[in-house]
Amino acid sequence: MDDAVTIIGAGIVGCSAAYFLAIAGVPVTVLDPVGIAAGASGRNNGLVEHPYDAASAPLFDQTVEIMREILGSAMPQTPVGALLLAEDELAARGLVDHYAQFPELRPVLLDPDSAREAEPLLADGMWGCLLDTGYPISPREATTAVAERARQAGARFELGGPVNLDEVRSASDQVLVAAGAWSSQLLKGLVAPNAVSPLWGVIVLVEMERGPGHAIIEGTVTRGLTTGKVENESPFTLLPSPSWLAVGSTLLPGNEPSGEEWAPRLLSRGTKFVPSIQDAHVQGTLVCARPKSFDSRPILGRVPGQDRLWLGSGHGGRGLSLGAASGKLLAEAIIAGSDAAIPAPLRADRLGAS
Ligand SMILES: Cc1cc2nc3c(=O)[nH]c(=O)nc-3n(C[C@H](O)[C@H](O)[C@H](O)COP(=O)(O)OP(=O)(O)OC[C@H]3O[C@@H](n4cnc5c(N)ncnc54)[C@H](O)[C@@H]3O)c2cc1C
Repeated sequence: MDDAVTIIGAGIVGCSAAYFLAIAGVPVTVLDPVGIAAGASGRNNGLVEHPYDAASAPLFDQTVEIMREILGSAMPQTPVGALLLAEDELAARGLVDHYAQFPELRPVLLDPDSAREAEPLLADGMWGCLLDTGYPISPREATTAVAERARQAGARFELGGPVNLDEVRSASDQVLVAAGAWSSQLLKGLVAPNAVSPLWGVIVLVEMERGPGHAIIEGTVTRGLTTGKVENESPFTLLPSPSWLAVGSTLLPGNEPSGEEWAPRLLSRGTKFVPSIQDAHVQGTLVCARPKSFDSRPILGRVPGQDRLWLGSGHGGRGLSLGAASGKLLAEAIIAGSDAAIPAPLRADRLGAS
Protein backbone atom coordinates (compact mmCIF):
# COMPACT_ATOMS: atom_id res chain seq x y z
CA MET A 1 0.00 0.00 0.00
CA ASP A 2 1.53 3.32 -1.14
CA ASP A 3 -0.79 5.72 0.61
CA ALA A 4 -3.64 5.51 3.05
CA VAL A 5 -5.83 7.78 0.91
CA THR A 6 -5.51 8.88 -2.71
CA ILE A 7 -7.68 11.70 -3.94
CA ILE A 8 -8.40 12.06 -7.65
CA GLY A 9 -8.99 15.70 -8.58
CA ALA A 10 -7.28 18.84 -7.28
CA GLY A 11 -10.30 21.15 -7.29
CA ILE A 12 -11.71 22.80 -4.19
CA VAL A 13 -13.35 19.55 -3.02
CA GLY A 14 -10.29 17.33 -3.45
CA CYS A 15 -7.89 19.90 -1.97
CA SER A 16 -10.16 20.50 1.03
CA ALA A 17 -10.50 16.78 1.73
CA ALA A 18 -6.71 16.47 1.47
CA TYR A 19 -6.25 19.30 3.95
CA PHE A 20 -8.56 17.80 6.56
CA LEU A 21 -7.09 14.31 6.13
CA ALA A 22 -3.54 15.64 6.35
CA ILE A 23 -4.14 17.67 9.52
CA ALA A 24 -5.62 14.52 11.06
CA GLY A 25 -2.31 12.78 10.32
CA VAL A 26 -3.59 10.58 7.47
CA PRO A 27 -1.10 10.03 4.63
CA VAL A 28 -2.78 11.47 1.55
CA THR A 29 -1.85 11.98 -2.09
CA VAL A 30 -3.77 14.12 -4.57
CA LEU A 31 -3.60 13.23 -8.26
CA ASP A 32 -4.69 15.50 -11.08
CA PRO A 33 -3.94 15.12 -14.79
CA VAL A 34 -3.71 18.90 -15.21
CA GLY A 35 -3.04 20.74 -11.96
CA ILE A 36 -4.47 22.48 -8.92
CA ALA A 37 -7.68 24.41 -9.70
CA ALA A 38 -7.50 23.32 -13.36
CA GLY A 39 -11.25 22.68 -13.53
CA ALA A 40 -14.22 24.76 -12.39
CA SER A 41 -12.53 25.70 -9.11
CA GLY A 42 -10.09 27.98 -10.89
CA ARG A 43 -12.48 29.47 -13.39
CA ASN A 44 -15.68 30.37 -11.63
CA ASN A 45 -17.40 33.53 -10.45
CA GLY A 46 -15.73 33.48 -7.07
CA LEU A 47 -18.84 34.07 -5.01
CA VAL A 48 -19.24 32.18 -1.76
CA GLU A 49 -23.01 32.23 -1.76
CA HIS A 50 -25.86 30.63 0.16
CA PRO A 51 -26.98 27.46 -1.66
CA TYR A 52 -30.71 28.23 -1.25
CA ASP A 53 -31.21 24.63 -0.19
CA ALA A 54 -31.91 23.66 3.41
CA ALA A 55 -29.94 20.41 3.22
CA SER A 56 -26.79 22.13 1.96
CA ALA A 57 -27.02 25.35 3.99
CA PRO A 58 -24.97 24.05 6.97
CA LEU A 59 -22.11 23.32 4.55
CA PHE A 60 -22.19 26.93 3.43
CA ASP A 61 -21.92 28.24 7.02
CA GLN A 62 -18.98 25.92 7.69
CA THR A 63 -17.31 26.84 4.40
CA VAL A 64 -17.48 30.53 5.33
CA GLU A 65 -15.72 29.71 8.61
CA ILE A 66 -13.08 27.53 6.95
CA MET A 67 -12.40 30.09 4.25
CA ARG A 68 -12.13 32.82 6.85
CA GLU A 69 -9.55 30.77 8.71
CA ILE A 70 -7.53 29.89 5.60
CA LEU A 71 -7.84 33.11 3.58
CA GLY A 72 -7.74 35.61 6.44
CA SER A 73 -8.49 39.12 5.25
CA ALA A 74 -9.00 37.90 1.66
CA MET A 75 -12.35 36.51 2.84
CA PRO A 76 -14.68 39.51 3.30
CA GLN A 77 -16.02 39.94 6.83
CA THR A 78 -19.55 40.68 5.65
CA PRO A 79 -21.52 39.65 2.57
CA VAL A 80 -21.79 42.13 -0.30
CA GLY A 81 -25.41 41.12 -0.88
CA ALA A 82 -26.91 39.20 -3.77
CA LEU A 83 -29.21 41.48 -5.73
CA LEU A 84 -31.68 39.32 -7.63
CA LEU A 85 -33.30 41.17 -10.51
CA ALA A 86 -36.89 40.93 -11.67
CA GLU A 87 -38.62 42.76 -14.48
CA ASP A 88 -41.82 43.51 -12.57
CA GLU A 89 -43.21 43.77 -9.09
CA LEU A 90 -44.99 40.43 -9.17
CA ALA A 91 -41.80 38.56 -10.05
CA ALA A 92 -39.82 40.47 -7.42
CA ARG A 93 -42.42 39.70 -4.74
CA GLY A 94 -42.25 36.05 -5.85
CA LEU A 95 -38.52 36.05 -5.19
CA VAL A 96 -38.93 37.67 -1.76
CA ASP A 97 -41.62 35.12 -0.81
CA HIS A 98 -39.51 32.23 -2.08
CA TYR A 99 -36.36 33.23 -0.19
CA ALA A 100 -38.28 34.00 3.01
CA GLN A 101 -37.89 30.27 3.73
CA PHE A 102 -34.28 31.16 4.65
CA PRO A 103 -34.70 33.88 7.31
CA GLU A 104 -30.91 34.31 7.51
CA LEU A 105 -31.02 35.82 4.01
CA ARG A 106 -33.29 38.67 5.20
CA PRO A 107 -34.86 39.20 1.75
CA VAL A 108 -35.81 42.80 1.02
CA LEU A 109 -38.07 43.93 -1.82
CA LEU A 110 -36.61 46.83 -3.81
CA ASP A 111 -38.81 48.92 -6.12
CA PRO A 112 -37.00 50.37 -9.15
CA ASP A 113 -36.02 53.56 -7.30
CA SER A 114 -34.56 51.72 -4.30
CA ALA A 115 -32.93 49.14 -6.58
CA ARG A 116 -31.23 51.96 -8.50
CA GLU A 117 -30.21 53.61 -5.25
CA ALA A 118 -28.66 50.34 -4.05
CA GLU A 119 -27.03 49.67 -7.40
CA PRO A 120 -26.64 52.76 -9.61
CA LEU A 121 -25.57 50.64 -12.62
CA LEU A 122 -29.04 49.18 -13.10
CA ALA A 123 -31.26 49.87 -16.09
CA ASP A 124 -34.55 51.72 -15.64
CA GLY A 125 -37.47 49.84 -14.21
CA MET A 126 -35.65 46.91 -12.62
CA TRP A 127 -37.18 45.45 -9.48
CA GLY A 128 -34.97 43.68 -6.99
CA CYS A 129 -34.83 41.22 -4.14
CA LEU A 130 -31.78 41.81 -1.99
CA LEU A 131 -30.39 38.82 -0.08
CA ASP A 132 -27.85 38.99 2.72
CA THR A 133 -25.27 36.64 1.21
CA GLY A 134 -22.28 36.61 -1.12
CA TYR A 135 -18.58 36.80 -0.24
CA PRO A 136 -16.45 37.52 -3.34
CA ILE A 137 -13.07 35.75 -3.32
CA SER A 138 -10.50 34.77 -5.94
CA PRO A 139 -11.45 31.20 -6.82
CA ARG A 140 -8.05 30.07 -8.04
CA GLU A 141 -6.21 31.69 -5.14
CA ALA A 142 -8.65 30.20 -2.63
CA THR A 143 -8.24 26.68 -4.04
CA THR A 144 -4.47 27.10 -4.20
CA ALA A 145 -4.41 28.36 -0.60
CA VAL A 146 -6.30 25.27 0.58
CA ALA A 147 -3.90 23.04 -1.41
CA GLU A 148 -0.94 24.85 0.14
CA ARG A 149 -2.33 24.26 3.64
CA ALA A 150 -2.77 20.59 2.75
CA ARG A 151 0.80 20.41 1.49
CA GLN A 152 2.12 22.05 4.66
CA ALA A 153 0.22 19.46 6.69
CA GLY A 154 1.91 16.66 4.74
CA ALA A 155 -0.31 15.97 1.71
CA ARG A 156 1.50 15.07 -1.50
CA PHE A 157 0.40 16.33 -4.91
CA GLU A 158 1.18 14.45 -8.12
CA LEU A 159 0.11 16.69 -10.96
CA GLY A 160 0.22 16.47 -14.72
CA GLY A 161 0.17 12.74 -15.40
CA PRO A 162 -2.58 10.39 -16.55
CA VAL A 163 -4.82 8.95 -13.83
CA ASN A 164 -6.10 5.39 -14.05
CA LEU A 165 -8.74 4.51 -11.45
CA ASP A 166 -8.01 0.77 -11.40
CA GLU A 167 -4.30 1.34 -10.86
CA VAL A 168 -4.97 3.91 -8.15
CA ARG A 169 -7.38 1.54 -6.41
CA SER A 170 -4.92 -1.30 -6.40
CA ALA A 171 -2.17 0.90 -4.97
CA SER A 172 -4.21 2.73 -2.30
CA ASP A 173 -6.08 1.82 0.79
CA GLN A 174 -8.91 4.30 0.21
CA VAL A 175 -9.69 6.35 -2.93
CA LEU A 176 -11.74 9.53 -3.10
CA VAL A 177 -12.96 10.60 -6.53
CA ALA A 178 -13.34 14.39 -6.61
CA ALA A 179 -13.00 14.87 -10.35
CA GLY A 180 -15.75 17.48 -10.73
CA ALA A 181 -17.92 17.15 -13.82
CA TRP A 182 -15.85 14.14 -14.95
CA SER A 183 -16.56 12.05 -11.86
CA SER A 184 -19.24 9.82 -13.44
CA GLN A 185 -16.99 9.22 -16.42
CA LEU A 186 -14.17 8.16 -14.11
CA LEU A 187 -16.56 5.89 -12.19
CA LYS A 188 -18.01 4.36 -15.36
CA GLY A 189 -19.95 1.21 -14.55
CA LEU A 190 -19.99 2.02 -10.82
CA VAL A 191 -22.43 4.93 -10.86
CA ALA A 192 -25.08 5.99 -13.38
CA PRO A 193 -23.72 8.19 -16.22
CA ASN A 194 -25.97 11.06 -15.12
CA ALA A 195 -24.96 10.89 -11.45
CA VAL A 196 -22.74 13.88 -12.21
CA SER A 197 -22.71 15.60 -15.59
CA PRO A 198 -21.33 18.86 -16.98
CA LEU A 199 -23.44 22.01 -16.92
CA TRP A 200 -21.30 24.36 -18.95
CA GLY A 201 -20.73 27.93 -17.90
CA VAL A 202 -19.35 30.61 -20.18
CA ILE A 203 -18.40 33.89 -18.52
CA VAL A 204 -17.03 37.03 -20.15
CA LEU A 205 -14.32 38.86 -18.24
CA VAL A 206 -14.72 42.62 -18.50
CA GLU A 207 -13.27 45.86 -17.23
CA MET A 208 -15.81 48.56 -16.47
CA GLU A 209 -15.31 52.16 -15.48
CA ARG A 210 -17.50 51.51 -12.48
CA GLY A 211 -18.15 48.01 -11.13
CA PRO A 212 -21.16 46.81 -9.15
CA GLY A 213 -21.40 47.00 -5.37
CA HIS A 214 -23.37 43.75 -5.16
CA ALA A 215 -23.47 40.40 -6.86
CA ILE A 216 -26.10 41.13 -9.53
CA ILE A 217 -28.02 38.05 -10.54
CA GLU A 218 -31.06 37.57 -12.74
CA GLY A 219 -33.75 36.16 -10.47
CA THR A 220 -34.21 32.92 -12.37
CA VAL A 221 -30.61 31.80 -11.86
CA THR A 222 -30.60 30.87 -8.22
CA ARG A 223 -33.74 28.80 -8.50
CA GLY A 224 -32.50 27.07 -11.67
CA LEU A 225 -29.25 26.03 -10.04
CA THR A 226 -31.05 24.77 -6.95
CA THR A 227 -33.93 22.89 -8.55
CA GLY A 228 -32.05 21.80 -11.66
CA LYS A 229 -34.94 23.10 -13.80
CA VAL A 230 -33.07 25.53 -16.00
CA GLU A 231 -35.64 28.10 -17.19
CA ASN A 232 -33.11 30.17 -19.10
CA GLU A 233 -29.89 28.87 -20.64
CA SER A 234 -28.11 32.23 -20.44
CA PRO A 235 -29.34 34.12 -17.40
CA PHE A 236 -27.62 37.42 -16.61
CA THR A 237 -25.06 37.71 -13.84
CA LEU A 238 -22.53 40.44 -13.11
CA LEU A 239 -20.27 39.19 -10.38
CA PRO A 240 -17.24 40.88 -8.90
CA SER A 241 -14.45 38.72 -7.54
CA PRO A 242 -11.05 40.16 -6.61
CA SER A 243 -9.72 38.28 -9.68
CA TRP A 244 -12.16 39.48 -12.27
CA LEU A 245 -15.47 41.09 -13.09
CA ALA A 246 -17.52 38.58 -15.03
CA VAL A 247 -20.65 38.87 -17.13
CA GLY A 248 -22.40 35.57 -17.39
CA SER A 249 -23.38 33.01 -17.66
CA THR A 250 -24.58 30.02 -19.56
CA LEU A 251 -26.19 26.91 -18.07
CA LEU A 252 -25.67 24.43 -20.92
CA PRO A 253 -25.69 20.62 -20.81
CA GLY A 254 -23.95 18.48 -23.44
CA ASN A 255 -20.73 19.33 -25.22
CA GLU A 256 -18.35 22.17 -24.41
CA PRO A 257 -19.74 25.44 -25.84
CA SER A 258 -17.67 28.04 -27.65
CA GLY A 259 -16.76 31.04 -25.51
CA GLU A 260 -16.31 33.23 -28.59
CA GLU A 261 -19.80 32.41 -29.85
CA TRP A 262 -21.50 33.00 -26.54
CA ALA A 263 -19.66 36.17 -25.49
CA PRO A 264 -21.59 38.63 -27.74
CA ARG A 265 -24.91 37.11 -26.70
CA LEU A 266 -24.08 37.35 -23.00
CA LEU A 267 -22.88 40.94 -23.34
CA SER A 268 -25.88 42.03 -25.37
CA ARG A 269 -28.29 40.43 -22.90
CA GLY A 270 -26.37 41.91 -19.97
CA THR A 271 -26.70 45.40 -21.44
CA LYS A 272 -30.45 45.14 -20.95
CA PHE A 273 -29.91 44.90 -17.19
CA VAL A 274 -26.76 47.03 -16.82
CA PRO A 275 -26.50 49.43 -19.79
CA SER A 276 -22.85 50.36 -19.14
CA ILE A 277 -21.84 46.79 -20.10
CA GLN A 278 -21.96 47.99 -23.71
CA ASP A 279 -18.92 50.19 -22.98
CA ALA A 280 -17.04 47.49 -21.05
CA HIS A 281 -13.59 46.45 -22.19
CA VAL A 282 -13.71 42.70 -22.88
CA GLN A 283 -10.67 40.85 -21.58
CA GLY A 284 -11.60 37.32 -22.59
CA THR A 285 -13.90 34.43 -21.87
CA LEU A 286 -13.72 31.46 -19.53
CA VAL A 287 -15.55 28.22 -20.20
CA CYS A 288 -15.85 25.50 -17.62
CA ALA A 289 -18.14 22.72 -16.48
CA ARG A 290 -20.15 22.81 -13.27
CA PRO A 291 -20.39 19.29 -11.82
CA LYS A 292 -24.17 18.98 -11.77
CA SER A 293 -25.61 16.03 -9.89
CA PHE A 294 -28.78 14.22 -10.94
CA ASP A 295 -30.75 15.92 -8.13
CA SER A 296 -28.73 19.15 -7.91
CA ARG A 297 -27.26 18.38 -4.49
CA PRO A 298 -23.68 17.46 -3.63
CA ILE A 299 -22.95 13.72 -3.59
CA LEU A 300 -20.72 12.86 -0.65
CA GLY A 301 -19.73 9.49 0.73
CA ARG A 302 -18.98 5.91 -0.12
CA VAL A 303 -19.74 4.81 -3.68
CA PRO A 304 -22.63 2.36 -3.31
CA GLY A 305 -21.47 -1.25 -3.26
CA GLN A 306 -17.78 -0.29 -3.17
CA ASP A 307 -15.80 -0.77 -0.03
CA ARG A 308 -12.85 1.58 -0.30
CA LEU A 309 -14.12 4.02 -2.90
CA TRP A 310 -15.55 7.45 -2.06
CA LEU A 311 -17.15 10.22 -4.10
CA GLY A 312 -17.18 13.97 -3.50
CA SER A 313 -18.79 15.83 -6.38
CA GLY A 314 -22.04 17.20 -7.79
CA HIS A 315 -21.78 20.69 -6.29
CA GLY A 316 -23.09 22.30 -9.48
CA GLY A 317 -22.92 26.08 -9.27
CA ARG A 318 -22.09 26.10 -5.56
CA GLY A 319 -18.80 24.25 -5.24
CA LEU A 320 -16.83 27.22 -4.02
CA SER A 321 -19.59 27.89 -1.49
CA LEU A 322 -19.81 24.34 -0.14
CA GLY A 323 -16.58 22.64 -1.18
CA ALA A 324 -14.42 23.26 1.88
CA ALA A 325 -17.02 21.88 4.28
CA SER A 326 -17.72 18.98 1.91
CA GLY A 327 -14.02 18.12 1.99
CA LYS A 328 -14.12 18.17 5.78
CA LEU A 329 -17.17 15.88 5.92
CA LEU A 330 -15.53 13.47 3.48
CA ALA A 331 -12.27 13.42 5.43
CA GLU A 332 -14.15 12.68 8.65
CA ALA A 333 -16.14 9.90 6.95
CA ILE A 334 -13.02 8.29 5.49
CA ILE A 335 -11.27 8.42 8.86
CA ALA A 336 -14.35 6.96 10.60
CA GLY A 337 -14.72 4.30 7.91
CA SER A 338 -18.38 5.25 7.64
CA ASP A 339 -20.41 7.94 5.93
CA ALA A 340 -23.32 7.62 8.36
CA ALA A 341 -22.69 11.13 9.73
CA ILE A 342 -23.16 12.71 6.29
CA PRO A 343 -26.73 14.07 6.06
CA ALA A 344 -28.91 11.65 4.08
CA PRO A 345 -29.94 14.17 1.36
CA LEU A 346 -26.25 14.63 0.50
CA ARG A 347 -25.03 11.07 1.05
CA ALA A 348 -23.77 9.05 -1.90
CA ASP A 349 -25.90 6.02 -1.02
CA ARG A 350 -28.85 7.76 -2.66
CA LEU A 351 -27.23 6.81 -5.97
CA GLY A 352 -28.21 3.21 -5.23
CA ALA A 353 -25.97 0.24 -5.92
CA SER A 354 -25.43 -0.16 -9.65
C1 LIG B 1 -19.17 29.82 -14.89
C2 LIG B 1 -19.17 29.23 -13.51
C3 LIG B 1 -19.32 30.07 -12.43
C4 LIG B 1 -19.36 29.55 -11.15
N1 LIG B 1 -19.47 30.40 -10.10
C5 LIG B 1 -19.50 29.90 -8.85
C6 LIG B 1 -19.60 30.78 -7.76
O1 LIG B 1 -19.63 32.01 -7.89
N2 LIG B 1 -19.70 30.23 -6.50
C7 LIG B 1 -19.67 28.89 -6.31
O2 LIG B 1 -19.80 28.45 -5.17
N3 LIG B 1 -19.52 28.03 -7.34
C8 LIG B 1 -19.44 28.51 -8.60
N4 LIG B 1 -19.31 27.66 -9.65
C9 LIG B 1 -19.27 26.22 -9.38
C10 LIG B 1 -17.89 25.77 -8.88
O3 LIG B 1 -16.90 26.27 -9.73
C11 LIG B 1 -17.84 24.22 -8.87
O4 LIG B 1 -18.94 23.68 -8.20
C12 LIG B 1 -16.59 23.75 -8.14
O5 LIG B 1 -15.44 24.39 -8.63
C13 LIG B 1 -16.44 22.23 -8.29
O6 LIG B 1 -15.27 21.86 -7.62
P1 LIG B 1 -14.73 20.37 -7.75
O7 LIG B 1 -13.54 20.27 -6.90
O8 LIG B 1 -15.85 19.41 -7.51
O9 LIG B 1 -14.38 20.20 -9.31
P2 LIG B 1 -13.29 20.90 -10.23
O10 LIG B 1 -12.84 22.19 -9.71
O11 LIG B 1 -13.83 20.87 -11.62
O12 LIG B 1 -12.04 19.95 -10.12
C14 LIG B 1 -12.02 18.68 -10.70
C15 LIG B 1 -10.58 18.31 -10.97
O13 LIG B 1 -10.59 16.98 -11.49
C16 LIG B 1 -9.64 16.89 -12.52
N5 LIG B 1 -10.04 15.81 -13.43
C17 LIG B 1 -10.87 15.86 -14.45
N6 LIG B 1 -10.96 14.66 -15.06
C18 LIG B 1 -10.16 13.84 -14.40
C19 LIG B 1 -9.83 12.48 -14.52
N7 LIG B 1 -10.36 11.73 -15.48
N8 LIG B 1 -8.96 11.96 -13.67
C20 LIG B 1 -8.45 12.70 -12.71
N9 LIG B 1 -8.74 14.01 -12.50
C21 LIG B 1 -9.58 14.56 -13.35
C22 LIG B 1 -9.63 18.26 -13.20
O14 LIG B 1 -8.36 18.50 -13.80
C23 LIG B 1 -9.91 19.18 -12.03
O15 LIG B 1 -8.72 19.74 -11.51
C24 LIG B 1 -19.26 28.15 -10.94
C25 LIG B 1 -19.08 27.31 -12.02
C26 LIG B 1 -19.03 27.84 -13.30
C27 LIG B 1 -18.86 26.93 -14.45
